[in-house]
Order: sequence, then structure tokens, then C-alpha cells
Amino acid sequence: MKSPEIQSREYRQLICTACPMGCTLEAEKEGDLIQVKGGRCQRGGKYAQDEITNPRRVMTTTCVMEGGELRRLPIRTTQPFPKNRMDDFMTFMTTVRVSAPVFCGDIIVSNVLGEGIDVIATRTIRKKQPAP
Ligand code: SF4
Repeated sequence: MKSPEIQSREYRQLICTACPMGCTLEAEKEGDLIQVKGGRCQRGGKYAQDEITNPRRVMTTTCVMEGGELRRLPIRTTQPFPKNRMDDFMTFMTTVRVSAPVFCGDIIVSNVLGEGIDVIATRTIRKKQPAP
């Protein structure tokens, strides 16, 4: 005789980062069902659902700059990137080399790692001037 399937419950406490209020959320997950309490608005429920099922982060780092006033270019993703691929992202960015000049907001990598997200420069870096 087959025993009935027991679904385990998970509890998580989260801080909503969807706005500066920073509400504390209590999430309870049982199977595919996620119930959320504690937010001041409905965005908290969406935040908790996303954080539990598909956590993402805006990635910031630097990449190599060639021929510029600085040797590293600060960059960020245009949208939150899947958290479970953060290591792949950081490894990939070590291979990226950019030539000066670069302007703040320029796209440095389109569709990074096939995730449909771009990487942009967060600073303008001009060409290095030759010494007089
Ligand atoms: S639940 Fe609503 S009010 Fe609270 S931090 Fe999230 S977005 Fe802001």
C-alpha cells in the first residue's frame, strides 16, 4: 500500500526591497503554494514570490578598460540577473575588455549569457592622453 505524500512546509522571513519602507515579510511555502504576510502593500507579496521561486539581483562589478584614463570600467546589469548564475556572470565579466572612450549608459554586453539582459557602463571614461 502506497503511503500518502507528505508535503513539507518552509517558513522564511524576508525584507522587502521593492521600496524604501523595507517591510518584514513572513512567507510560508507548501508545495507550489506560497502565502505571504506582513507587507504594507501587494508588492510585498510579489517580491516574496519572486525571491523564493526565482531570486534575482542587479549585478555590479568592473571590467578591463584599455587605453582609458582609468584601467577598470564600472558596469551594472540593466535588470536583475538570476542569482543562481551570479558566478557565471562574474567569470564572464573577467573576459570582457573595453576600449576607451566609453560613455555612461553605453551597452558593454548585449543579452549577457543569453538572459536577455544588457550590461551597461556606469561611468564615462575618456581616452588616456599621451604624456606631453
Ligand atoms: S511591502 Fe510594499 S510598502 Fe512594504 S517594502 Fe514592499 S513595496 Fe514597500
